[in-house]
Amino acid sequence: MKFEKSRRLHESARRFIPTGVTSCMRAFQEPVPLFIDHGAGSRLFDVDGNEYIDYALAHGPLILGHCHPRIVAAVEKQLHRGSTFGCQHELEGRVAAKMLQVMPWAERVLFSNTGTEAVQVALRLARAATGRNLVIKFEADYHGWIDSILVGYRHKEPLRAASNSSQMLVTQGQSPSVLRDVLVLPWNDHETLERIFREVGDQVAAVITEPMQCNLASILPAPGFLALLREHTAQYGAVLIFDEVITGFRLAAGGGAQYFGVSPDLAVFAKALAGGYPLSAVAGSEPLLRPVETGQVLHFGTFNGNPIAMAAADTTLEILLDPSEDVYGRMDRLGRRLFQGLQTLPNQGLPILVQGVPTCFHILFTEQRAIANYSDFVACDITRARLWVENALLEGIFQMGDARWYVSGAHTDEDITTTLERAERTLTRVASRAELFQKTG
Ligand code: PMP
Repeated sequence: MKFEKSRRLHESARRFIPTGVTSCMRAFQEPVPLFIDHGAGSRLFDVDGNEYIDYALAHGPLILGHCHPRIVAAVEKQLHRGSTFGCQHELEGRVAAKMLQVMPWAERVLFSNTGTEAVQVALRLARAATGRNLVIKFEADYHGWIDSILVGYRHKEPLRAASNSSQMLVTQGQSPSVLRDVLVLPWNDHETLERIFREVGDQVAAVITEPMQCNLASILPAPGFLALLREHTAQYGAVLIFDEVITGFRLAAGGGAQYFGVSPDLAVFAKALAGGYPLSAVAGSEPLLRPVETGQVLHFGTFNGNPIAMAAADTTLEILLDPSEDVYGRMDRLGRRLFQGLQTLPNQGLPILVQGVPTCFHILFTEQRAIANYSDFVACDITRARLWVENALLEGIFQMGDARWYVSGAHTDEDITTTLERAERTLTRVASRAELFQKTG
């Protein structure tokens, strides 16, 4: 494979854009940050003409693949009628109603553009409802890049216990004052959670968590852990926020809440909601969202509810919620084939763990039988994982940089067969290169 054009475009972009990419995470792609020409269905094509089976799905949103013809048609139709109005239009209510159909626990929806913004609204609603400040989040979970919640994400040391030391800050330029308002706990640790609630439960405004830790090794909740969060937040009058930016409309139509059978008070959606267009939402009960109605809580945004993203969401949800399309059945079946196929590859002596659910999982290099939290995760072999991602790319498999895979409604049985053949070759290469790496240090 050649990457000359990507390389040239990257060098050129760096003259104008720091790192030459537009989200810091993309700067680390090897052998070079790819420049894409176009996408189609389950495939991605770069400017050098390389073709990839796409399991990164633009960091998750492309639940129906690239350029689903019905989404393209809906967006195109709307483009001729206007791209943004700064006023209301019919699609907003229609999309909200469709969302609420699959969320029996919610009654109202607010729209923003990105997951980060919607998280900000959810935290504000929780603080307004409780009159408290403290937010509990979990180690290494990601809820967007705003200062107030970018805490305890990929920090230097795993936690022994609840902590909000300066090590929890993630970037220079972040105000240390956020540490006063956020407490970072280890995930899946029932005892620490119970102790912290006993100590400071009456100060907690919200607990925010992904229903499964998609951003960290696709860790599933330990039995009873989400129920414990539900019980403790209810008992202490705190708000339980599910960050369903990844899990929403992916694990099931009703997201992680439906999949794991635990209802939050508020949930945040983005990514899959509009099938590849920038739209996010917060859903919750009428009383929790009432302060917006009364003007006590403010929620702004020039592009909120813009009709392009709404047209995409309306059609995406129409397809996802149509039983005759059976998108979830298909994704689950294909995802299982892929997941199990990867799990049973001849492992070339490499300890390999595939963890998560069929439509969102990670490949990890470790002897451990399961990763339950950040402490387990830091014991995994990151170097091998990077080699795996890089070598898989050379075989035409495109996954997230942390070896995370998303399955879409556009993937086919043939894609899975081809992927498993390529994955087997990749593993052989990783085994030999990892050996080489060890020998040379
Ligand atoms: N929450 C979660 C769980 C996420 O994975 C992300 C993005 N990866 C965000 C929030 C932030 O979303 P956005 O990038 O749209 O701001």
